[in-house]
Amino acid sequence: MTTPLPFGLSPVPTPKKASPLYCSEHSTVNRGPQAGVAISLRCKCWHCEMCQPINRGRVIHRAKRGDPSTFITLTSNPALYKTPDEAARAMVRGWRALRRRIARKQGRDQIPFIAVFEATKAGWPHLHILARAGWIDQRWLSATWKELTGAFIVDIRAIQDRGRAAAYVSKYVGKDPHRFIGTQRFWNSRDWQIDREEADQRPALPSDRWWKIEAPLAELANALAAQGVPFEWHGHRITWGDGTQ
Ligand SMILES: [Zn+2]
Repeated sequence: MTTPLPFGLSPVPTPKKASPLYCSEHSTVNRGPQAGVAISLRCKCWHCEMCQPINRGRVIHRAKRGDPSTFITLTSNPALYKTPDEAARAMVRGWRALRRRIARKQGRDQIPFIAVFEATKAGWPHLHILARAGWIDQRWLSATWKELTGAFIVDIRAIQDRGRAAAYVSKYVGKDPHRFIGTQRFWNSRDWQIDREEADQRPALPSDRWWKIEAPLAELANALAAQGVPFEWHGHRITWGDGTQ
């Protein structure tokens, strides 16, 4: 069964590779008999003016949802690597080994964490980590990190409360995540997010099918207005019909 689109617009294939050139030029529409939702198709690039703050917001949100108890910053030793990218790749391996050591020391299976790279002014990587970990001795951490990577400068702080956690997250984690070649900008363990409420509260979609259309959200809004259909804007989406108050 085909549900016609209310816009006098027809679905089109969208470019396979998103880029800032196409950012928000297209939309995706989910429409049922009584209601609909349309979402702006963003490129999600970190270099895109529009998407970058949204991406940063996502990292911050994800970091907060893990309810961290410990904030760790690890550094690299530039003398040991030809490029910052090489140093960053070594830090990813180093952090994997380090968290196994921490877990073993604490008699646990694993350490839930989220890790985010930042580039220093000189371009070298810092790795900021929020974790749910017990007490870790700073000197042990420094000595172990040196053994694993050749760098001994580390910073560790216990997070006293949620307010402090939020401050660390926006100051260090969400400031300017950097992608070094061969690594991810940020990543987290599967057991990191403990607050699942949000996913459960997501409203049901009007239909199973999403249509991609070659029109920005504003054009759809105009079409709805022209047809006298009340709708609501929610940032990068509009909704109409049932569910619109
Ligand atoms: Zn974009």
